[in-house]
Amino acid sequence: MSEEANPFESLQEQIDDAAAYVDVPGDVLERFKHPERVLETNLTVEMDDGSLSVFKAFRSQFNGDRGPYKGGIRYHPGVTRDEVKALSGWMVYKCAVVDIPYGGGKGGIVVEPRELSMTELERLTRSFAKELRPVIGEDRDIPAPDVNTGQREMNWIKDTYETLENTTAPGVITGKAIESGGSRGRVEATGRSVMLTAREAFDYLGKEIEGATVAVQGYGNAGSIAARLIESELGADVVAVSDSSGAIHHPDGLDTAAVRAHKDETGTVTGYPEAESELTNEELLTMDVDLLVPAALENAIDGDLAEDVAADVVVEAANGPLTPDADDVLTERGVHVFPDILANAGGVTVSYFEWVQNRQRFYWPESRVNDELERHIVEAFDGLTSAYEDNDLPNFRTAAYVVALQRVYRAYSEGGTWP
Ligand code: GLU
Repeated sequence: MSEEANPFESLQEQIDDAAAYVDVPGDVLERFKHPERVLETNLTVEMDDGSLSVFKAFRSQFNGDRGPYKGGIRYHPGVTRDEVKALSGWMVYKCAVVDIPYGGGKGGIVVEPRELSMTELERLTRSFAKELRPVIGEDRDIPAPDVNTGQREMNWIKDTYETLENTTAPGVITGKAIESGGSRGRVEATGRSVMLTAREAFDYLGKEIEGATVAVQGYGNAGSIAARLIESELGADVVAVSDSSGAIHHPDGLDTAAVRAHKDETGTVTGYPEAESELTNEELLTMDVDLLVPAALENAIDGDLAEDVAADVVVEAANGPLTPDADDVLTERGVHVFPDILANAGGVTVSYFEWVQNRQRFYWPESRVNDELERHIVEAFDGLTSAYEDNDLPNFRTAAYVVALQRVYRAYSEGGTWP
């Protein structure tokens, strides 16, 4: 595991790799490698015992050339300013790859949410929402869930914003519960786009997904739903899954829904009674499977570990799970990596549908959400593979950035420069 790779530098390297194939002037490229602004704030929150705690929090607005800043808010003790900057940049290129009318943003609070009570979490979230209020808005910056946040936090942020603004504005944030203006299909959307990307990737490479073996690292929202849909909709065998407590394995395939129920009950995937054996995280990442899905945090696979990755195909459910060194090694070794900015883009794509529904106050059935999502992901996949072939690109990540960078540059140059 490489703790050293700085995600912001990784993002800049990815942009540079693609820029070699896109006609963007160097000075304009600098713009696309840096956030427009970063809010850093220290939230003072009253704990249940009456004491005060201070939590550092960030919101990075990376680029708004294609529309309002868009991206999640994560709660994690490892959040840093550079991580949030990188994540906000990845959102710019993700929204461009799937061609939805947004720029990119990201937020985070340095906190271990498991150490807070629900009332403390609510005060923390409302305190952040109060700080964010001047810089967010339905047409300005639209946050969403990310690591360790979900419907509950989004509902609180929406409520705080609407109360302070004395209005109703459900489109100020996405990933809300249905009753608070959420969209059907949003909870599943990230996992669904991972499944769709795996399906398209295997088809494109002329490989059979039915009966293929799959390992999934990370069993949160993205990982557990991707695992379930890859098993139930594609007929693959999910032979290993992990979370921060360790990994479990069964050569004939795990019952992914039962593993999720076990995790909901006990807090971890380990100890699942039907598993044949338990593995380390590293053993899972280097298993000889047809498909590997990293669905945890950044830097899960570095250059050294990439030498031992035995999967044929990698589909990234997490943001930034491979370091640039890992990318180079896997490209060299002929392992096909389908990048995060395509594979996990289902989350933000259905966030876009949620925002459209909020603006129109007209709500769609789940079938429409899933059909529109499939259309966006399949079209994006086809655009990426065309760019890969037409430009003879080294890998699919560079192809995704080439497509995205062209779109961002076009939007920027059409608008021109404001002094
Ligand atoms: N946090 C998710 C992501 O990284 C979703 C963002 C959104 O829905 O705006 O793509």
